[in-house]
Amino acid sequence: MTAATLIKNFPEKQISVIESPNVPTVGVGESTLGQINLWLYTLGIEDKDWMASCDASYKLSIKFTNFYENDNSSFHYPFGYPEGFDRNLMPEALMDWYHRKALHPELPVENFADTFYPVMSFVHNNKFCPYTMQKLGFHTEQAAAYHFDATKFGIWLRDNYCIPNGVDHIQANVESISSDETGITGLVLDNNDYEEADLYIDCTGFKSILLNELGAEFTSYSDILPNDSAWATRLPYTDKDKELKPYTNCTALGNGWVWDIPLWSRVGTGYVFSSEFTSDEDALEEFKNHLRTDRDVPVSQETIDSLEFKKIDMRVGIHDEIFLKNVCAIGLAAGFIEPLESNGLYTVHEFLHSLVHALQRNTVSQFDKDAFNEKCKGNFRAFAEFVALHYALSIRQDTPYWKNCLQMKRPKQLPLPGFYATYGFDNLKFSHRENNQVMDKTNGIVPISAGMNWFPFDKPTMMRRLYEEHRLDYVDYLEEQFPHWDKMLERRNSAVEMCSSLPEYLKENIHHER
Ligand SMILES: Cc1cc2nc3c(=O)[nH]c(=O)nc-3n(C[C@H](O)[C@H](O)[C@H](O)COP(=O)(O)OP(=O)(O)OC[C@H]3O[C@@H](n4cnc5c(N)ncnc54)[C@H](O)[C@@H]3O)c2cc1C
Repeated sequence: MTAATLIKNFPEKQISVIESPNVPTVGVGESTLGQINLWLYTLGIEDKDWMASCDASYKLSIKFTNFYENDNSSFHYPFGYPEGFDRNLMPEALMDWYHRKALHPELPVENFADTFYPVMSFVHNNKFCPYTMQKLGFHTEQAAAYHFDATKFGIWLRDNYCIPNGVDHIQANVESISSDETGITGLVLDNNDYEEADLYIDCTGFKSILLNELGAEFTSYSDILPNDSAWATRLPYTDKDKELKPYTNCTALGNGWVWDIPLWSRVGTGYVFSSEFTSDEDALEEFKNHLRTDRDVPVSQETIDSLEFKKIDMRVGIHDEIFLKNVCAIGLAAGFIEPLESNGLYTVHEFLHSLVHALQRNTVSQFDKDAFNEKCKGNFRAFAEFVALHYALSIRQDTPYWKNCLQMKRPKQLPLPGFYATYGFDNLKFSHRENNQVMDKTNGIVPISAGMNWFPFDKPTMMRRLYEEHRLDYVDYLEEQFPHWDKMLERRNSAVEMCSSLPEYLKENIHHER
């Protein structure tokens, strides 16, 4: 992705990728966010070009199960804009949903996403139809993200974009690195070549061999994020029509959570956990047990026995300077949050966008590097805090891991309390934090906090306010409105009935299989 971005924006530069023929890539990273469309658009890459080669499918939402309580309850964080939301202000309808929840606490929290995100009708019914979706305000070309095989995606970009556009691909190991006070001065490769450049991009994954050579400091995020390990595997489909859903399924277990990412020909799944609370062996057993028993479509013991499980140690946090001297790190080499909310590749394309900006003037000053570092790190930290909220809002206490999440003291700047407390609920700004694009209007704080049963006000607060404003009759008015909302949901659900299912759509339009 880095080489593709650089050759697109700086075609006159000489760009080489040095890639080890025997150090494997991390091999995961299959669920993306809608903003990847902006990156694909700027490179001129369309779905029909790459999706079939990369085993890709569409993703409309993220589903969370057992995060709030261990009771099989779930909620969605759908993509696209919530219906009727103005760019900066909370609409009355949102307040009215909170009013409804205060008046009727039995209203399931899933109703929040169903009410505000028309795309939920497609999600619930496993449908995909860009035309009907657009009529309901969901623009697939911007808002639908992807599930894909990240390794195949890298290979596709190499062979169909980078090399044809002039990138030099060198297959060799960097054996040693020379450096001085200005930065890296050259790379010794195991094919006896010596490579010099005026800018080095460190894409060496968690090892960050170039930034480490310069002694870059790293700040861990273990103070807000407990998970540091994962077991990953690839599942064959048992019942593809049932399992190929348009969302990433995240299920909390006793010591973390499991991702379930349906691609076109298989499912990517893995258990993210904290080594402080369980051993690798116990985590693997817990994961296998989940696959056998809790999954929507259980996996047979025979299939489990045939799977390869890969253990991954995650370095969670970010380098203090991602752009240091003549090295800029992208991807895991820069930092990693943890996979919840699919932020890895998002970080890659967003950092690349900022890198292109930093390189615009041909000579890169310290000012450019500082600006790049501040912007990227600010967004990264905001995203990490958002991910941390998924644990902070849980009330699970069935295992020491979840008890720790319940009691963990976190830094004051976790966004939620400030988010509501600062602005109040009448005039709530979505982009409440400067330098924080992640929390823009499509931000997840609102659906995630609703899904986790956390609301900006309760019934006594609501009644007190209505009393103060001589508006107690508003309650009667609202009670009359609620049935219309339910009818609206029914209408939306019936509007999608005629649409193709996601597997049918992919078969016909992307993978062209008979
Ligand atoms: C458990 C887990 C789950 C994840 N899930 C998601 C997800 O759902 N969605 C998402 O967007 N992101 C996810 N990510 C993040 C995502 O996988 C990465 O952001 C993405 O794959 C990019 O990785 P990378 O290229 O930075 O590193 P890597 O894939 O590790 O690549 C490093 C490269 O450096 C090369 N290299 C290393 N040493 C040398 C050397 N000495 N000489 C030459 N070459 C060398 C290797 O050959 C390799 O090509 C996940 C990450 C983890 C750990």
